[in-house]
Amino acid sequence: MPGLRYIGRFAPSPTGLLHAGSLVAALASWLDARAAGPTARWLVRIEDVDGTRCRPELARANLQQLAGLGLLPDEVPQWQSQRQPLYLAAMQQLQLQGACYPCACSRKDVEAALVALGRGRPRNSELVYPGTCRLGNGGRPERATRFRLTAADAAPILTHWIDRRLGVQQQDVAQDVGDFVLQRTDGSFSYQLAVVVDDAAQGVTHVVRGADLADNTARQILLQQALGLPTPRYLHTPLVVNAAGEKLSKQNGAQPVDTTQPLQALEAAARVLGLGPARAAVPEALAGWVAQWRELYNPQP
Ligand code: GLU
Repeated sequence: MPGLRYIGRFAPSPTGLLHAGSLVAALASWLDARAAGPTARWLVRIEDVDGTRCRPELARANLQQLAGLGLLPDEVPQWQSQRQPLYLAAMQQLQLQGACYPCACSRKDVEAALVALGRGRPRNSELVYPGTCRLGNGGRPERATRFRLTAADAAPILTHWIDRRLGVQQQDVAQDVGDFVLQRTDGSFSYQLAVVVDDAAQGVTHVVRGADLADNTARQILLQQALGLPTPRYLHTPLVVNAAGEKLSKQNGAQPVDTTQPLQALEAAARVLGLGPARAAVPEALAGWVAQWRELYNPQP
């Protein structure tokens, strides 16, 4: 139907080579776009917004790995490190709206504030920012700019969305996260800001990514609403876990995808996604999985 469109994306952070876990997200987002029909576009975006952890040679290696697996983007990949003006413009808009504020708190300050509030320190999770600098930072040196959640002073407000695999999801961002960082004083932008600005600027309609990112979605929806941007549809894929049941990651030694054995690598990722065994060669295998994916998830443009 004219006017309907589908734009999907895979957005690796080039802090390492693609491993079995990241390949699941790459394959799923590619399949979703291909299953959406001939006009659908599949983009690759290099999320190198954190210049201290990302390396351009790893980004190039990620792109080569994708190409070796037959997952080719429909447009030249965009690099977040080259998109700073877009993020700045979004920050200016939020500043004009009073939707963000300068924060002077260090991690230690946040911990101390939480203890003073009797909220202790959650184990193994992010600290919930208690809003210390909402009304001013007392002239202390600024460390970051935070998003001002409108719900933070009021009754709990749940943000809802429907995940195409996980179903209805909800989060009280004020309770679980607090006012979150948009920009640090070294000028760098947060993942939340960059991803929201880029998904909108690139016209992304469908986000398909790993379930480890699912709990960022509510934050991203609130930011989209504050910036007057559309909310894409979301699908979070199952995670690949190691023998100890931990999420496979670069930090716990996940092996890079072996592109000399593309069919095996793709088949392992397809299995995680609940798809059947591969056919004889990569193009046929991919075509078979596209058909299965369409049955499972029916990506409507
Ligand atoms: N760059 C993020 C990562 O590699 C993914 C971001 C996203 O898909 O929203 O974990």
